[in-house]
Amino acid sequence: MMGTPDLDDLYREIILDHYRNPRNTGLLAGPDLQAEGFNPFCGDRVVLTLALDSGGGIERVGFEGEGCSISQASASIMTELLKGKSVGEAHGLNAAFRALMADAELPHGHSADDLGELTALEGVKRFPVRIKCALLPWATLQDALAQGSHTP
Ligand code: ZN
Repeated sequence: MMGTPDLDDLYREIILDHYRNPRNTGLLAGPDLQAEGFNPFCGDRVVLTLALDSGGGIERVGFEGEGCSISQASASIMTELLKGKSVGEAHGLNAAFRALMADAELPHGHSADDLGELTALEGVKRFPVRIKCALLPWATLQDALAQGSHTP
C-alpha cells in the first residue's frame, strides 16, 4: 500500500490538533443561549455559549470543556462549523453527525462534505462507549437551542 495515505493517522492528527489547540474557547459574556453537558461515562464536560444575530443566525460561539480528546475535539470542530449557520442549519448538522456516528444514512440534503473535519471522528463509531464522547457537545448544543425554540 505504498503511497496510500493512512486515513487513521490523518484523522488522529486532526483530532489531536483540535484537542491541543481548541478553537473558540472561552465563554461569551451575556450569551443568547447556553447549556452545559456532562458525560458520566468518561468524565467529559462541555459548557457552550452562543450569540445570535438579529436574524437568528449563530454569530459567535464560545465553549469551555474538559475531558478526553474525542469530546474536546468534537466540541472544537463543532464551534467552527456553527459560526454563521442558522439555527435550522445547526439542527441539520446535528442530525447529520448523529447519523454518521450511528452508521445510518445521512438526512436528506446532507452529505459528508457538510460535516467537514467531523468526519475525522467517524472511526470512533467502532468504539460504542466513545460515541457518547463525540456526541456530548452536540447534545449540549441541542439543549442550548431548545432554550431558544420559543422565540421566532
Ligand atoms: Zn470522553
